[in-house]
Amino acid sequence: MTTAVIITAAGRGARAGGDLPKQWQLLAGRPVLAHTLAAFAGFDVVLTVHPDDLERAKSLFSGQIVLGGADRAASVRAGLQALAGRGITRVLIHDGARPLVGREVIERVLSALHTHKAAAPALPVTDALWRGADGLVTGTADRTGLYRAQTPQGFDFEAILSAHLSYNIPAADDVEVARAAGLDVAIVAGDEANIKLTYAGDFARAEAMMKERAMDIRLGNGFDVHAFCEGDHVWLCGHKIAHSKGLLGHSDADVGMHALTDAIYGALADGDIGQHFPPSDPQWKGAASHIFLAHAMTRARARGYDLANCDVTLICERPKIGPHAEAMRAALAAIMGVDLGKVSVKATTSEKLGFTGREEGIAALASATLVQG
Ligand code: MG
Repeated sequence: MTTAVIITAAGRGARAGGDLPKQWQLLAGRPVLAHTLAAFAGFDVVLTVHPDDLERAKSLFSGQIVLGGADRAASVRAGLQALAGRGITRVLIHDGARPLVGREVIERVLSALHTHKAAAPALPVTDALWRGADGLVTGTADRTGLYRAQTPQGFDFEAILSAHLSYNIPAADDVEVARAAGLDVAIVAGDEANIKLTYAGDFARAEAMMKERAMDIRLGNGFDVHAFCEGDHVWLCGHKIAHSKGLLGHSDADVGMHALTDAIYGALADGDIGQHFPPSDPQWKGAASHIFLAHAMTRARARGYDLANCDVTLICERPKIGPHAEAMRAALAAIMGVDLGKVSVKATTSEKLGFTGREEGIAALASATLVQG
């Protein structure tokens, strides 16, 4: 199926106040329409605009722009006609003033179009409904079976084009036009966040929702190697294991914890262990590595981040890590002050190849994800 999208932005939107129509007013520093267009990135989009906004539209959007008509239906009709003859099989029609539409809603509509010629998102009405006049309630209405309609509304292209061509009275939306032409319209679940910016207060609400979405997520990785030396134990991920060799290093040579510490510094773009704890500085000689890991976590929290998860892989033939992995997870979780479920420790051999295969040392790599919390 070949899908196109018509984004309607030809209305004048006077209810939102301000000098500009609502779809051109700024939301989080960009025109509302820029957010809406971004939500449909990757789709073949036609934008319908008012003639007064043509230059503004060209500076925002490099795709196809169509001048809208006297009302919404006329604008959509113009958009559909611009798409005719291009082999489009289905079309989504979306309000330019719904910038917070998510991919899930879009996917639900597209998916319903496999079995229906028309589908649209909606939410059941949950508030009580009244009739009123002169500031008084004059009656109540049954909300059973009532829905609040959203967009994008999706259609078989030829079916909605022909419906629009034979419809010429004002319509609230394209579902109304489709139904007038006898099409069944499937209802799919809408999203409370998919609000239509109508009043000035809607902008503040939309910005708050966008901030929530734009959560800062940071990923870092770390890698470390330490050579074996004479000894009778190794420290790995904060856990002491009896072994026929030790690990050589300026500190306790906990290779797993070093890789993890570097992953956290990496996520913060905050250097590495060597920078924070120079090997040239005698005070870190023989230091327990939990000092480094705790330091990295303190730096993360000072900047408002917490650990979402981390994953450490130890690469060695011996000692066998499996029997100690749970104790290592517990030690790391305690040092970082996070739940055990956020910490993974696993191991692999290198099939006797290379320096780890020859048991000359142990390598470790780690990933860490930080989220603003
Ligand atoms: Mg190291």
